Amino acid sequence: MLKWRAICICRVMAISLSGVIRRWFLTLALLVVLIGLGSQGLSAADSNERLIWLRAEIARHDELYFKKAAPEITDSEYDTLKRELRTLEKTQQPVMGDDRSGDFATQRHRQPMLSLEKAYTAEELRTFINKAERTLRREDVVWVIEPKFDGLAISVTYEGGNLVRAVTRGNGLEGDDVTANVLTITAIPRQLPAGAPAVVEVRGEVFIDYAEFARINVERDAAGEESFAHPRNLAAGTLKSKDPAEVGKRRLSAVFYGLGVWEGAEKPPATQQALHARFKAWGLPGVDKVTVVKEAAVWSAVEEFGRERSRLSYPTDGVVVKIDSRSEQLELGAGEDAPRWAVAYKFAPERVATRLKAITLQVGRTGAITPVAELDPVKIGGTTITRATLHNLEEIKRRDLRVGDFVYVEKAGEIIPAIVGVDLELRGSEVKSYVLPEKCPECGVAFVREGTSVRCANNECGAQVRRRIEYFASPSGVGIGGLGPALIDTLVAKKKLTGVADIYRLRSEDGVSARVLAEIEKSRRVDLARLIGAMGLPGVGKKGATALAVRYRTLDELVQAEELSEESRTLLKDLMAAGVTSSVPGVLEKK
Ligand SMILES: [Zn+2]
Repeated sequence: MLKWRAICICRVMAISLSGVIRRWFLTLALLVVLIGLGSQGLSAADSNERLIWLRAEIARHDELYFKKAAPEITDSEYDTLKRELRTLEKTQQPVMGDDRSGDFATQRHRQPMLSLEKAYTAEELRTFINKAERTLRREDVVWVIEPKFDGLAISVTYEGGNLVRAVTRGNGLEGDDVTANVLTITAIPRQLPAGAPAVVEVRGEVFIDYAEFARINVERDAAGEESFAHPRNLAAGTLKSKDPAEVGKRRLSAVFYGLGVWEGAEKPPATQQALHARFKAWGLPGVDKVTVVKEAAVWSAVEEFGRERSRLSYPTDGVVVKIDSRSEQLELGAGEDAPRWAVAYKFAPERVATRLKAITLQVGRTGAITPVAELDPVKIGGTTITRATLHNLEEIKRRDLRVGDFVYVEKAGEIIPAIVGVDLELRGSEVKSYVLPEKCPECGVAFVREGTSVRCANNECGAQVRRRIEYFASPSGVGIGGLGPALIDTLVAKKKLTGVADIYRLRSEDGVSARVLAEIEKSRRVDLARLIGAMGLPGVGKKGATALAVRYRTLDELVQAEELSEESRTLLKDLMAAGVTSSVPGVLEKK
């Protein structure tokens, strides 16, 4: 009761106050909640989320206190947070993951693939390092700091210089044999140069860089498919695909930084730095950002990496701090499930709280509806965000989101902001449950229910038309460089584009540059399979498009095909009338 009154008072005052004071009261309200809530009765997932939140919050208060000399909370409030964190950490069971999917043959690792001990605070990192140095009875140990790539751990074995096996970590003892898929990754050489050991197992990570992540998500968006939330999910999903040809279409990256089995006349490199150099000489993708320091400078190097990591082109979730000398590594050895000479320091995901102003709907090219959260502007990871995707209508129900709620926003994979929770304690009486409109916000035609989702079934809906044109022109479609969403919006508004085929009627008077017109011209003769794919026929994927192209070979034949719906036939006739002449390569020349 007392707790509730405190929250109410704080909320009332927060509404009437502004700026710094308002922020202070909100923090206080939150603290009252924290103190009252404790950690009892939380599920495993909740307590894990809470753990992450506590670590981030304590780190923030440390920064305010030590660096900015501007604490927001009292010492005793700070101690309460620390106490809760310690209690939670004691009850959390460390979980050893297992990435095996059951779709691949199992391979036993000749040497276990251990995971790393994790540190979440400067103190935990220092404790690990001091313990290692005490055991070695040395104080001038050299430490190497590498980025902690956020992907999927992989072990690749070369025998006689040839790549013979690639296995995921799995449960550490045995993993999935993904050799066929790894052979499609161009970044990983199939052969090592002469002089490589008879058998060598290199270990590292398979990941997807931000540029490729964005490219694939743009394609999926345009195709009306759900986008990937994080580059790691995308990398893992791709590496575990059952079709190696599909793996080859996505540009997976790899990095190697560790050794497993080594059999040869020569001894392995004597230091971690020498190992990096050897991998580079062998043509293996290596770590490009390495810092070498003594214990006293480890923390400042970690902090510096933390400041710079948002500028990296690939996803990281921390750093790995390793002892440089291989003989010292061997001397320390490993504990039950982690080596004693390397530790992972994990950065807490940046999380901010803001108000959910409204939920709006986005209409896809097939009429699929995606809800979007409209937020009070808030800064996260150096950028201000005002919107976050809610993926689907179920998400609103699952998270019990109400308009007016204070929500936690995290930037997943440093790219897409996602809502990860609602602050129920801050929920006021003015919040409103979301009511799904009956009609499409774009064209006003009543939605059609499809299970738990809804669809705009109006083929002429303005939003769908724009999305279809966007998809047709996108790299997943026929690929018309320069004809992007902004230009398409302008041309649709000027009524210069009323459908896909109008692209081929555009002229320079319509405000289209010569470069874009040249791109359009080029796309008239695109491969038939690609044209069919770009039309986005219902139920016809990339494979289906190729099959249709192979069967009919020319537009004249295809337009007669009985598989086509009347809508698709009309679109095809329209494209032909506008001067599109695509065919299967070689067919027209032979005629
Ligand atoms: Zn509509």
